[in-house]
Amino acid sequence: MKRNILVESKLKSPPTWGRFRGGLICMFMFLSLSLYSHAQTTIKQDPTISQMVSEVSAKNIEVNIRKLVSFKTRHTLSDTTSKTEGSGAARNWIKATYEEYAKAVGGRMVVQFDTFTQPKGERIDKPVKLKNVLAILKGTDPNDNRVYIVSGHYDSRVNDVMNPNTVEPGANDDASGTAVSLELARVMASRKFPATIIFMSVVGEEQGLYGSTNVAKRAKAENWNVDAMLNNDIVGNTHGMETDLKDNRSVRVFSEGIPSTAANNDKQIAGLIALGGENDSPSRELARYVKETAERYVDQLDVKLIYRRDRYLRGGDHVPFLLNGFSAVRFTEMNEDFHRQHQDVRTENGIDYGDLPDFVDFNYVQKVARMNLSVLANLALAPAQPQNEHTVAFFV
Ligand SMILES: [Zn+2]
Repeated sequence: MKRNILVESKLKSPPTWGRFRGGLICMFMFLSLSLYSHAQTTIKQDPTISQMVSEVSAKNIEVNIRKLVSFKTRHTLSDTTSKTEGSGAARNWIKATYEEYAKAVGGRMVVQFDTFTQPKGERIDKPVKLKNVLAILKGTDPNDNRVYIVSGHYDSRVNDVMNPNTVEPGANDDASGTAVSLELARVMASRKFPATIIFMSVVGEEQGLYGSTNVAKRAKAENWNVDAMLNNDIVGNTHGMETDLKDNRSVRVFSEGIPSTAANNDKQIAGLIALGGENDSPSRELARYVKETAERYVDQLDVKLIYRRDRYLRGGDHVPFLLNGFSAVRFTEMNEDFHRQHQDVRTENGIDYGDLPDFVDFNYVQKVARMNLSVLANLALAPAQPQNEHTVAFFV
């Protein structure tokens, strides 16, 4: 991973010996304490990135999440003809919103539907035409072909994953991630980066990661140089159902240890074992970069590195990118509330169920968006990583 963070540590000048009147022990103790208390770390931030980070708006995020919920359902198999309800209305609004942001800054960002037909299969009862939305901010350096992707899924679901026709607000899962992509596009579209950034809103996650799979396969087929993919899924709740803890400063970053592409490659596995490389896959290194970078730009943020590809027995839109050989990580809130995920909206035994916007902490989504922005901007402004580097192992 590239790094262009500037950090310097400095110790203030230690006190001079002449200031002391006491014995040698006292002097030593004083000097030690003095050095300790004056030790400080000065963090230099790129002011242009700090400015962008500060422009990420909780209010704007809230407005967009509430708008996404207003489509009643964004289920992948829901209606696409209505102008006000269902998946079609939602994707049209997402595209129009990206276009509005692009227009506001002179149209350098190009917005497109990524359209494909998903055949009948598990959780898809008949062939269906699906559309991801991509807002592409082309890099300014013609010799730099790196691509960075930030993504959230706009489809939603309730208890019955095949039910497209009920109220399925999906405020946290995953209007929150969709709002992150939108807000970053709003802030970053006016800026220039040598590398290309794609702000992505995908469909079909709940039915089987179909939207992200289509983009990942397209990226591989068209030789996109995807250097990092950031997946935001469930990034808006700060109350843990099981723990009853409220945590608005921690965010989990999931990264795989053994690269997915090594699964059927005995030689690659043998190489990883020989070099002890099970903990430094490109995605794991990306996760470390996220922590190192974001905690310097975002106040009250504690990035928790989770050493697995996703939550236990779960998956997300970063997985198809990993399977196609790209570095990708997943961001998710610290403590999940399962009363708010994949639930019919109802009250049962005194418990409110349903993924409604009133349970989203918009300031927390803002924090996660700022984390994403600081990482994307640092990566896209940094020089490309060296190519054709070689690993040399010494056995002693
Ligand atoms: Zn989700």
